[in-house]
Amino acid sequence: MTSVPATAVACVYEGVGKDIKIDEKHPVTQPQDLKAGEVLVKLEYSGVCHSDLHLWKGDFPFPLPFPLIGGHEGAGRIVAIGEGTDTSLKVGQPVGVKWVESTCMDVGCGFCSGGMDQHCLKAKMSGCMVDGTFRQYMASSAKYVTPIPENLPLEYAAPVLCAGVTSWGALKRSNTKPGDWVTISGAGGGLGHLAVQYALAIGLRVAAIDTGAEKRKLLESYGVDKFIDFRDYKDASEIIAAVKETCDGLGPHARPLASLTKPLLTEALQFLRPRGTLVAVALASNTKIEAELFGFIGKGLTIVGSYVGSRSDALEALDFVARGKVKPQVVVKPMREIQQVLETLEKGQVDGRLVLKLQD
Ligand SMILES: [Zn+2]
Ligand SMILES: [Zn+2]
Repeated sequence: MTSVPATAVACVYEGVGKDIKIDEKHPVTQPQDLKAGEVLVKLEYSGVCHSDLHLWKGDFPFPLPFPLIGGHEGAGRIVAIGEGTDTSLKVGQPVGVKWVESTCMDVGCGFCSGGMDQHCLKAKMSGCMVDGTFRQYMASSAKYVTPIPENLPLEYAAPVLCAGVTSWGALKRSNTKPGDWVTISGAGGGLGHLAVQYALAIGLRVAAIDTGAEKRKLLESYGVDKFIDFRDYKDASEIIAAVKETCDGLGPHARPLASLTKPLLTEALQFLRPRGTLVAVALASNTKIEAELFGFIGKGLTIVGSYVGSRSDALEALDFVARGKVKPQVVVKPMREIQQVLETLEKGQVDGRLVLKLQD
């Protein structure tokens, strides 16, 4: 049995936008105190998502249970399993905790038994409704933690647990098939760079929108079919024209919305070819997608909301990374720098995904 300390480090939000407290002596659930059905995870890395920033800043349209430990992309290893837990999980096995930390998993729940568990009415969100992954130890559900392939370094697994699953889920719901075009804006960002790689891995053609030589280089290294630097165009209508020209003169078959920059959001549907699909994934409050009805109906468009992903989406998303088909770009920072990390994210000065190293 691995020894478990009585206390460990946790990053605690004490209120909306307040300085984040580094609690050096946060109590750790002891193995004998685990409930049946729970595992204790020694977390090694946690990705930092835009939603973490929004939650800390109070941008989501509901109150949070402060004090609250943020974070929902945690990757670590099981150090204890609650007595009486019926599970195939083993002590030492790598697992992840994602945005949906647990659901009812009852056979009578159509969402949980139908592969749509993220929509379970009893779902609990990590770092939002319950304490999250910006800490060193965490008890979680043996039925709902995500097994991580043994060969996958945990700092790469972490961002897959939200950004990767969300990207993969969006593509699965994009009504596309190999050879179809997708347009991804914010393509070099935390979500975008993963969406691009998943899209290419399943044979989609990608028109990537972002800006700057660095992002161009990164995205071209993945093999995107076209890089569109939005700063080369004077407004959204010019960008749309460039995208259409790239995509057979018609526009893409689908557009996952990985980034919510205003002009491109307002014109979101105008990118699409007839019968195209807009997949909304990135969350922001007070944000609307507007559909001009003549165009929307005349082109037979679809708008799909894609909410993170299911348990099986998470397994698939990790498998792509374990097989080397998708490689997250990560910037690893010490956990005690959480506040600076969130502030960096707010300024948008990040290439790839920020990941906190949780163990000293
Ligand atoms: Zn997230
Ligand atoms: Zn359920």
